[in-house]
Amino acid sequence: MSAMPRRKSTVCRVGPIPVGGGSPIVVQSMTNTDTEDAGSTAAQVVELARAGSELVRITVNTREAAARVAEIRSRIEDAGVRVPLIGDFHFNGHQLLREYPDCARALDKYRINPGNVGRGSRHDENFATMIKVAMEYRRPVRIGVNGGSLDAALLDELMEANARASQKASATEVFREAMIQSALRSAALAEEVGLGHDRIIISVKMSQVQEMIAVYRALAARSDYPLHLGLTEAGMGSKGIVATSAALAVLMQEGIGDTIRASLTPDPGGDRTLEVRVCQQLLQTMGFRPFAPMVTACPGCGRTTSTLFQELAQRIERRLTDNMATWRTEHPGVESMTVAVMGCVVNGPGESRAANLGISLPGTGEDPKAPVYIDGELFTTLKGPTLADDFMRLVEQYVTDHYPRQ
Ligand code: SF4
Repeated sequence: MSAMPRRKSTVCRVGPIPVGGGSPIVVQSMTNTDTEDAGSTAAQVVELARAGSELVRITVNTREAAARVAEIRSRIEDAGVRVPLIGDFHFNGHQLLREYPDCARALDKYRINPGNVGRGSRHDENFATMIKVAMEYRRPVRIGVNGGSLDAALLDELMEANARASQKASATEVFREAMIQSALRSAALAEEVGLGHDRIIISVKMSQVQEMIAVYRALAARSDYPLHLGLTEAGMGSKGIVATSAALAVLMQEGIGDTIRASLTPDPGGDRTLEVRVCQQLLQTMGFRPFAPMVTACPGCGRTTSTLFQELAQRIERRLTDNMATWRTEHPGVESMTVAVMGCVVNGPGESRAANLGISLPGTGEDPKAPVYIDGELFTTLKGPTLADDFMRLVEQYVTDHYPRQ
């Protein structure tokens, strides 16, 4: 089954990165450091960018944080990293962007949450202030609606209208409609103020998978702005990864989504780059974008009681990941390579033939030798204690032969 064609949308440039209009789906992430600590925030931006994040968002929540943004930008550039930086504003963005022009200039995009820009007449005024700054510095904005901070006045308005209607919608349907209207009314207001249609990206994040899918589907049908996808507050560990993948996969399969983020809660002191790898693996396993050679490994079963194939699969995966930093430039195209590491004769030869390189390790009771297949043909048979290193050498030789520097 193939994915549906990508939804038609305008193209919004974030720094040098095109978002929407059929451009490759972009991987985004966000720091969780205190932005007032410029050193640790810059270090984490660099880490996320080197892991493959193509856009990185940072919190800009206080005057001190806003005052450090330009320094963060310089530190990132000093590390030799060029990645568009997005400022995340809530409550006081209109003040910070006006009072700290260096901050406004150092950012490549502003994220504005229309539920958190003030109440009553202040709402539109504060929102317009941020849009004017975006126009002054020629920056795009993301209008980022979030189910947890939906504009309460708008929700009340729609709830009251629904109460008066002869055909009543459910509370869930009204909530979804409020999410969409919050995004679309804000986008219309931004354009009224003078921001270009092609300078707007929209998101409508929710934390429930089915609700999130439903609201994005409806929004996609009602606008042509590029869409940033995310399941907000996805959670921890495998639950967060599964929920994010389920939600994003359904939408991307339908051609919806131009940037994605996995909003995973890391373990205390955990690796923030996990959210980048999840997005990359999701895009790659669905066939949208290759990022690194893929290792197909069988799950193992009672036919293989040794851990040899698990260790070999892990070693190969690690070597491939480590090598990608240089291979990306020295061996273009290598990210499409596939490697199979299989545990026994049942599926081993079949999967190994289907990969660029595959090794079928001996299961319990089989002869202690491992046939290696290259591009579908039996190439050699390995055995003995150097088997893992011998196979890795074949992988590296394959990369050199098949993905030459151009
Ligand atoms: S390939 Fe062999 S060891 Fe691996 S899961 Fe299948 S039957 Fe089990």
